[in-house]
Amino acid sequence: MIIIAQKISILGSTGSIGIQALDVARNLNIKVEGITANNNFEILIKQAIEFLPSHVAIGDKRFVEPLKRELKGYNIKVLGGLDGIKHIASLDRVDTVVNAIVGIAGLIPTMEAINCKKNVAIANKETLVTAGALVMSNAAKNDVEILPIDSEHAAVFQCLAGNRKSNVDRVILTASGGPFRGKSRSEMENVTLEEALKHPNWSMGSKITIDSATLMNKGLEVIEAKWLFGLKPEKISVIIHPQSIIHSMVEYVDGSIMAQLGAPDMRIPIQLALTWPDRKNNNFTKLDLLKMDSLTFCEPDFDAFPCLKLAYKALDTGGTMPVVLNAANEEAVSMFLRRKIKFIDIPDIIEKVMERHNVSDATELEQIFEADRWARETVFGLK
Ligand code: NAD
Ligand code: MG
Repeated sequence: MIIIAQKISILGSTGSIGIQALDVARNLNIKVEGITANNNFEILIKQAIEFLPSHVAIGDKRFVEPLKRELKGYNIKVLGGLDGIKHIASLDRVDTVVNAIVGIAGLIPTMEAINCKKNVAIANKETLVTAGALVMSNAAKNDVEILPIDSEHAAVFQCLAGNRKSNVDRVILTASGGPFRGKSRSEMENVTLEEALKHPNWSMGSKITIDSATLMNKGLEVIEAKWLFGLKPEKISVIIHPQSIIHSMVEYVDGSIMAQLGAPDMRIPIQLALTWPDRKNNNFTKLDLLKMDSLTFCEPDFDAFPCLKLAYKALDTGGTMPVVLNAANEEAVSMFLRRKIKFIDIPDIIEKVMERHNVSDATELEQIFEADRWARETVFGLK
């Protein structure tokens, strides 16, 4: 498979991954044809003026007219709403779409890109958690690649290269453990939003930062790994590795473990997704092994961090359950970010919603969106 991106669109260009993807494009001189944001109008304007894409789209239609005013005189088409974002996922000249949208909002644009025969460099893990089967089968049907940006999955992707999948004993996803590693549930009773937002190793968007603190991020990544690599759930394990230097590993039946290491810099996996199977020089900070103290590992604490357990349960149940896990989590995290609930309420809310769910098939987009809507309504009904 040869996938060197020439012309790209970046969905969610104003976020943490989107900004880093633009940096990669800047360094590699990749032409950016389209960029999108939800409502971050100021950053989008600056990006448009620097990269001069042929199209920009903003999800919140109220910003379309102001955006048009600001970009008057540039040869840039301004679009709005989901249709605008879909259009940018389908631009004729684009070969690879970087999906850096957060949440299930990234699903329809992902499907659009695949249907228009674009490779998708995917950071938006919620797309795979909610509709992994559909996305992967659609990608195969359209003969396009889904390239992981998530650092763990980029690591697994590299550790699998050149090996036989039938020889894999297990995939080992590493997790930093987040800011509350080592704490018991009762010690997390009164943690604050500010404490939860302080990730030890990575600077990321607020939703994934909270997901990292609850370990739901790792749970979502277990489901993501299942779909990206076609693995059985029992072949995917999680290990806590606080230094975030080994980004993940693959253990083979002969006892060999392949690992991928690097500085914790998301531009490395973003770049790889755009240059694979080639690798390009860059000026990102390199890992200096001699300056590292030690690499340590321990088991995750499933009792203190029930979100990880809930994600395995959702994966095991299948059907619409991962959709419900994701939607309840999106709502609970949003409430925590608005200081409406406590940190430890997040897993409780998700568990209650999962308990009430009647699982059905998730083979069509309508079923997925119906389960998503049901779960969000159920979260609101809990209060
Ligand atoms: P972020 O919040 O910083 O950025 C999200 C982007 O999506 C913004 O450009 C925003 O305008 C856009 N967006 C938000 N809601 C939208 C909607 N309803 N419709 C259209 N666009 C919308 O998030 P992030 O940290 O960059 O994460 C993006 C995705 O990448 C997430 O799925 C996250 O789990 C994944 N990811 C992030 C990191 C990281 O280091 N930040 C690492 C691995 C994976
Ligand atoms: Mg990750």
